[in-house]
Amino acid sequence: MARIERAGTVIEVTVGDITDCRVDAIVNAANPSLLGGGGVDGAIHRAAGPKLLEECRTIGGCPPGEARITFGYDLPAARVIHTVGPVWHGGTQGEDEVLASAYRSSFALARENGLRSIAFPAISTGVYGFPKCRAAHIAVHEALVAAATGHFRRIALVCFSEGDAATYGRALEVAAN
Ligand code: ADP
Repeated sequence: MARIERAGTVIEVTVGDITDCRVDAIVNAANPSLLGGGGVDGAIHRAAGPKLLEECRTIGGCPPGEARITFGYDLPAARVIHTVGPVWHGGTQGEDEVLASAYRSSFALARENGLRSIAFPAISTGVYGFPKCRAAHIAVHEALVAAATGHFRRIALVCFSEGDAATYGRALEVAAN
């Protein structure tokens, strides 16, 4: 799949289940309650086990565009960064900025916690309905900004289908050239 290197950071688009990723932190596309849900959120809670929900209950939620960190429990990843992307309402309600902010907040938490490899799902592109191509360009832009800090070893954009990986991969190629 698509892969580039910037300032010592590998940025790659992969296809797979994010719960299998062996990275310092995986990012969860959570809802504001942080109490679990469907899609990638449900998969992460199932793979991490019930202690993840217990820890999430102590946090008290998370507004869109922000992020919160927990342990990963039974996941291969030591930490989970829970972020809340925007629900798509047609693109005129600040959705682009909230999505960018969800990525930026997640990268900031990873840096504060010394986490150097991180895997993201395609935030907001499932039930939240954000158009995939538009979301991919925002994800790639924020990954490049994070790579420029020199902090990260690896940033993976993990897609759940070949079609999504082609979309995110094209966005990465466009940004790299
Ligand atoms: P949102 O509410 O932010 O749209 P979803 O979980 O509905 O979140 O979807 C976000 C993306 O995560 C979608 O592209 C979906 O296909 C993908 N996804 C679902 N399960 C997994 C998984 N186990 N690993 C990686 N990506 C996943």
